[in-house]
Amino acid sequence: MNKNFKKEEFKKSVAENVKTLYRKTIDEATPQQVFQAVSYTVKDVIIDDWLATQKVYEKEDPKMVYYMSMEFLMGRALGNNLINLTAYEAVKEALDEMGFDLNMIEDQEPDAALGNGGLGRLAACFLDSLATLGYCAYGCGIRYRYGMFKQKIENGYQIEVPDNWLKDGNPFELRRPEYAKEVKFGGYVRVEYDEKTRRNKFIQEGYQSVRAIPYDIPIVGYNNHVVNTLRVWDAEAINDFQLDSFDKGDYQKAVEQENLAKNIVEVLYPNDNHYAGKELRLKQQYFFISASVQAAIEKYKKKHTDIRKFYEKATFQLNDTHPTVAIAELMRILLDEEGLEWDEAWEVTTKTCAYTNHTIMAEALEKWPIELFSRLLPRIYQIIEEINRRFVNEIEKKYPGNHEKMRKMAIIYDGQVKMAHLAIAAGYSVNGVAQLHTEILKNQELKDFYQMMPEKFNNKTNGITQRRFLLHANPLLASWVTDHIGDEWITDLPQIAKMKIYAEDKKAQQEFMNIKYQNKLRLAKYIKEHNGIDVDPRSIFDVQVKRLHEYKRQLLNILHVMYLYNKIKDHPELDFYPRTFIFGAKAAAGYKRAKQTIKLINSVGDVINNDRSINGKLKVVFIEDYRVSNAELIFAASDVSEQISTASKEASGTGNMKFMLNGAPTLGTMDGANVEIVQEVGEENAFIFGLTADEVINFENNGGYYPMEYFNSDQDIRRVLMQLINGEYSNGDMNMFREIYDSLLNTKSSDRADTYFILADFKSYAKAQEEVEKAYRDEERWAKMAILNMASSGKFTADRTIKQYVDEIWHLDHVTVEALNS
Ligand SMILES: *Cc1c(COP(=O)(O)O)cnc(C)c1O
Repeated sequence: MNKNFKKEEFKKSVAENVKTLYRKTIDEATPQQVFQAVSYTVKDVIIDDWLATQKVYEKEDPKMVYYMSMEFLMGRALGNNLINLTAYEAVKEALDEMGFDLNMIEDQEPDAALGNGGLGRLAACFLDSLATLGYCAYGCGIRYRYGMFKQKIENGYQIEVPDNWLKDGNPFELRRPEYAKEVKFGGYVRVEYDEKTRRNKFIQEGYQSVRAIPYDIPIVGYNNHVVNTLRVWDAEAINDFQLDSFDKGDYQKAVEQENLAKNIVEVLYPNDNHYAGKELRLKQQYFFISASVQAAIEKYKKKHTDIRKFYEKATFQLNDTHPTVAIAELMRILLDEEGLEWDEAWEVTTKTCAYTNHTIMAEALEKWPIELFSRLLPRIYQIIEEINRRFVNEIEKKYPGNHEKMRKMAIIYDGQVKMAHLAIAAGYSVNGVAQLHTEILKNQELKDFYQMMPEKFNNKTNGITQRRFLLHANPLLASWVTDHIGDEWITDLPQIAKMKIYAEDKKAQQEFMNIKYQNKLRLAKYIKEHNGIDVDPRSIFDVQVKRLHEYKRQLLNILHVMYLYNKIKDHPELDFYPRTFIFGAKAAAGYKRAKQTIKLINSVGDVINNDRSINGKLKVVFIEDYRVSNAELIFAASDVSEQISTASKEASGTGNMKFMLNGAPTLGTMDGANVEIVQEVGEENAFIFGLTADEVINFENNGGYYPMEYFNSDQDIRRVLMQLINGEYSNGDMNMFREIYDSLLNTKSSDRADTYFILADFKSYAKAQEEVEKAYRDEERWAKMAILNMASSGKFTADRTIKQYVDEIWHLDHVTVEALNS
């Protein structure tokens, strides 16, 4: 408990805030207004630590990391800030005395959904760990006016609704207009010879520009007074739409600048693991990168005179290729504004930038057409051309006459700028996000780069923060763990291994299962309220929540549900253990197959949930609008963690780790971090099935496989597939799910069918599911497995991941912060 927390002062401050913000007394305030008032009070507490941290950074001048990311999937701030201030219980008590329930107040806060899924959530977990471990870090991103769309399900279909998350204001953010930066787009580059320096000067002219305004969001470390900053940039027109420009006949230009600024930060592109190639997306990328790099240089120059040593005090981590234009922007500033020679600028840049690869999916690789890129960013394009010219020379030197290498590795080739190649050529580190993923990068996707520069490649297996995903999300389990082993696990998750001795303890097993049951009741209530469906909290909660993507294979899951339903209908006498299949997933707005899969899940649910003849043995629930806040309820209540991607396709996964931490065994393929989860918990405590990554890659390299063989030889599979086109789940409409059927068998075209190996893995998945049921029937065995999963999750804390980034890539200085005397 926070020693500085004074209950009566807190209550007074909340009432005071309600008065000044809304001219109301506390009993007249709406829940939203109470949330705002409480948050402002909490922000006041944070501000002191924020200031204290800033003072330490100024005095000690530690090396810092700029974590550059298009996405930060932060979720809600209030509860998490209270947890990290160790004031959650005290505030809960104070609010109770005022007649408010903290949970209800927390529910007033919209999620900061400035991200799609795993990549954005990873950025959020990393910021939490960086502050908790005492490292100087800035998150750099975009303050999207509309974050990830809200998902509504109507008639079983996904509908996208704008997420106006800022409509009531964000009490935790701080607008910093004094640090605004200008960002230039378009125009042309004029070259002018400078007699004095005897160098060419490059001057961008005829451009449009936008003012980037930073908003700072505090990132509170756990119980250590460190408060770092997530800086997200808003856009404004440089010349407010004034008569001024109208008079000069520049009316059109003024309107254009106004619109450019408005559009840039309007929305987050809702694509996960998919590149759409939109011009506005490149504008967004350069917008926040240019502002962030300018700010980083400015900050450095306040204390230091030699820009050639920039990398000694700052490093840029590029979260995927989305921020890769930072490499060229840093070069531009060093060359054109700081007056460095090319080689000097290149040395600084290549010692500053590091790149994280998040996927091997071909459709996710960013490649910009030269025409678009050079038109929007003419000077940046020139610099990338020169980087490419020199890089191609290096390839030629290393592999003389090998045009194949040049073709495959060049940064600019075939009319396109390849951002991953730029990131690898200029980065001092290239990391994958799980062991298997890094090996696939080295041996397959990035083999040529690995052979040319093996020293750059390394692995940093992802992690999650236990502060949010256990301490906040699952208070019952968190207290139970603390009662047994103390609370060191909160900042040292491997300590949770001490719980292993309770895995076979009957009393502990009972207690664990009871806590799980309480959490299942909590989720059942949420489901009843949101879906109107009654689910049995004693059934197995079998959960797949993550973005909807073909490679994640929600389709395999729902086809298996259809198969189970057939089995139960054929054999009503069968002793089938009741199951609740829970899905949660947003599909990218333009991803047709993904949206059809959502419809299929809901249609199957409609039929099964309303079939009284199966006595509630099977339920299918699709939770609308999966996001961080409801994820916290879901993980705590899960029995089974579905991690069933086609092996080799899921780089890491982090949802898998959140389930494990909450004591849900993995039902999954040997993919991504599942491999390491199984290593930690033991094969006997997971349910593993399906093709291995090597087997999948082998098939792919040899022209695919023949799903028709499975269709022809297996009547269970055939029956389920026929139910996609016989109207069984579509009120007789034989076309509703035909595209899904065709994608699996593709009898018509010469395209490959079932590229995600669903039929190939179907039977081994069904077998693994039988093993799940068998294990669950034995309550002691199940409780043991679940406790061992939780107790073996120590490796998967983001604290470990961040320590590895610090030790092996960033080399940051550690800081400690004392509380300001108040
Ligand atoms: C953890 C998380 C993800 C990532 O889940 P995966 O199963 O790793 O794809 C996506 N969305 C939310 C809201 C999350 O909390």
